[in-house]
Formats: sequence, structure tokens, C-alpha cells
Amino acid sequence: MASSSSNNNASANNRSRYLMRTLPTHCSCNLRLARRISWTERNPGRRFLVCPRPSSHPQRCDDFFWIDGELYNDWYKHTMHRMYVSMSSQEREVFEDDAHNHQMEIALAVMEERVARMVDEFQTAKSQMWLLGGRCVGS
Ligand SMILES: [Zn+2]
Repeated sequence: MASSSSNNNASANNRSRYLMRTLPTHCSCNLRLARRISWTERNPGRRFLVCPRPSSHPQRCDDFFWIDGELYNDWYKHTMHRMYVSMSSQEREVFEDDAHNHQMEIALAVMEERVARMVDEFQTAKSQMWLLGGRCVGS
């Protein structure tokens, strides 16, 4: 019991450390790392950085860094992979190019939703204050 809870804590710590760490910009050949997206069954849609040299290059280094953390669960992995398999090669290209923009759009949408909720809460609080104020004046 005690050991299982300490294991959970350790994995949570590892995960946040993983997200907090800064990624290198250059590989051991001193070249700017290339960003790619993995589409394996195990890591579908997971971005990583590698040496920009082609795999056939004799001086290619073995540098490899994941940008994104592990995918949430097996269902998510399976769904992502199935989605990719069902795409045409043209759709795949668009997805690779837009992967970054898409992430930005999601981040913006989340922020917009948060702001909208704050405005709503503010309006509600304001109208409640008006009601309270009115009641005080009335009585
Ligand atoms: Zn390299």
C-alpha cells in the first residue's frame, strides 16, 4: 500500500520534470535539430527532435529527444494511430506541416474559453452586487 503510493508520486514527479526540462537546439554534429512526428503504433503523433542528416549519412549522430511526453493511454494511442493509417499521403503532409499551427490553435481556443468564463463570472458577480445594493437601498 505504502509502496504503491510512493511509486505514484515518483511517476508524477518524473512527468513534471519531463515537461519542465528545456530541449536542446543542436545535435552532436552542431547542426540544428530537425523536428519530426512519430507515427508508430506505440507513439503516434508524438513529436521528437533528431539529427537533420539523412539516416544513410556516415557522420549522422544518434541524438534523439522527445518533445511531447508519453501519450495519455492506450485508447488514445490506438485512436491516433488508426486516424493516421486512414489518412491519404496528401492529408498526412498537411498534418505534418500544420502540426505546430494546430497546437497553437488549440492553445488559443483554451485561452479564449478561459477568458470568456472569467468575463461570465465577473458579469454574474457584478449583477449579484447590483441586486444586493438594490435590496439594501430598498429596505
Ligand atoms: Zn547530428
